[in-house]
Amino acid sequence: MADFDLAVVGGGINGTGIARDAAGRGLRVLLVEQNDLASGTSSASSKLIHGGLRYLEQGWLRLVRESLAEREVMLRMAPHLIRPMRFVLPAEPAMRPPWMLRAGLFVYDHLGGRKILPPTRTIDLARDPLGAPLREPHGQGFEYSDCVADDARLVVLSALDAAERGAVIRTRTRCIRAERGAAWRLVLEVRGRRDLATARVLVDATGPWIKQFAGEVLRQEAPVPARLDKGSHIVVPRLFEHDRAYVLQAHDRRIVFAIPFQRDFTLIGTTDQGFAGELATVTPSVDEITYLCHVANRHFCARITPADVVWSFAGVRSLHDDGAKRAQNVSRDYVLALDEREAPLLTVYGGKITTYRRLAEQALDRLAHLFEAGPAWTRDSRLPGGEFPWDGIGRLAAETRRARPFLSEAHAWRLVRAYGTRVDRVLGPARSIEDLGPWLGADLTGAEVRYLMEREWAQTEDDVLWRRTKLGLRFSPDERERLAKFMAAMVGGP
Ligand SMILES: Cc1cc2nc3c(=O)[nH]c(=O)nc-3n(C[C@H](O)[C@H](O)[C@H](O)COP(=O)(O)OP(=O)(O)OC[C@H]3O[C@@H](n4cnc5c(N)ncnc54)[C@H](O)[C@@H]3O)c2cc1C
Repeated sequence: MADFDLAVVGGGINGTGIARDAAGRGLRVLLVEQNDLASGTSSASSKLIHGGLRYLEQGWLRLVRESLAEREVMLRMAPHLIRPMRFVLPAEPAMRPPWMLRAGLFVYDHLGGRKILPPTRTIDLARDPLGAPLREPHGQGFEYSDCVADDARLVVLSALDAAERGAVIRTRTRCIRAERGAAWRLVLEVRGRRDLATARVLVDATGPWIKQFAGEVLRQEAPVPARLDKGSHIVVPRLFEHDRAYVLQAHDRRIVFAIPFQRDFTLIGTTDQGFAGELATVTPSVDEITYLCHVANRHFCARITPADVVWSFAGVRSLHDDGAKRAQNVSRDYVLALDEREAPLLTVYGGKITTYRRLAEQALDRLAHLFEAGPAWTRDSRLPGGEFPWDGIGRLAAETRRARPFLSEAHAWRLVRAYGTRVDRVLGPARSIEDLGPWLGADLTGAEVRYLMEREWAQTEDDVLWRRTKLGLRFSPDERERLAKFMAAMVGGP
């Protein structure tokens, strides 16, 4: 008998989503990730849980409808990681006429069965305070709803939920060979050591590594043609004081978002272009950074240059190649390809953070005839720590501060946003800030790092500073070194 029913390669949003769904249906699941969870595209998204207003222009109705409906399902599933956001879209008649925006937003409001999120409203940018940060605050604008999320933590908490339902999650474990017979025989590499595992079904959720995985590990062609597209973001000190985001129309018809980020910053992105290069080290080019600064400067009073960029990141998506010429015209919809010639292989193309739960559900439905597995279950589920109402985060933060008055307001909010109702597991029996162990920089304490290492697979400073938290934005090089030493001591190093 094979060791596992299902082996999933890839610890991004799609791999962890599928592992979680499968484990919850009672299957024996293995997930392997060559690096850290969410170290690929899934921590480099625009962090939107959205229908994709722009996709209406492309006529991708199926994807928009499903994504719009998923916004509220996701908000209920992870109310700590996901929050409603209002987006301000200034009308620029030279780009897209206001009637077109209004019509698009009408469809957007009505297509997905919206219950929680407020509808679109029209605003007069000359009078409304939301016009104030803009260079040309005149004419009409629209304010509509979507959500924003902590993409990397969605991945980690999906993996955690999968593990709590019995899945085996192995990070820093690379699948270097997959031999196919009546079952799959996987050769895994873990810190230079070889290991073997067998599974009845293999899921390729390697995202942009799809061609490499097919060629080098499976030694076959990818079942459908894939295309790689890169997008970049920059983070700068906040460009405006309020809590809404802006949707900017660039001259080349691209859409650029400017989103409040981590309280003191603005996230600006994204670019969109074909990609060929080394996936392990993908970064924004100088041209992309300059482009994003230029789009921001064209719209906002505040001026930025590349020297203001405190952080930047780039991600690559693997999309089903539908032959479109321009990157922004390639369908963002996902494709699941099932090959049952011998031991079954399911290959995942595309997908969005927004639709990962649905993608996982459909993946398991496609495999249903192969197992005696339980029914779909994730629609009304919660991710770990998300067991509270979608609008209950303020109450949770207040309760946490009442129980632990030594936490500052900002600290309590950061912790409940990351851990939700599991904040008590992070803080343990602490009754004072000193009880949380050494202070390591910003508001990161030894207790939190210990929790991340013991429960959330964190092994390096980057795992902690950029994927489990975003405290990398606030850490100095000295603090980073102190964190590295603390983590080394935790695993018995120097
Ligand atoms: C610029 C950009 C912005 C985006 N913005 C949004 C957004 O705002 N909202 C939204 O909903 N979606 C967005 N998306 C889409 C979304 O981010 C991606 O579709 C999604 O993250 C893809 O997840 P994945 O799990 O398929 O791939 P990945 O996250 O890349 O995961 C694949 C994993 O497989 C691992 N792997 C590869 N080969 C092996 C191997 N041999 N052994 C073990 N592990 C292996 C990799 O290390 C990697 O971690 C955006 C995408 C991009 C590029």
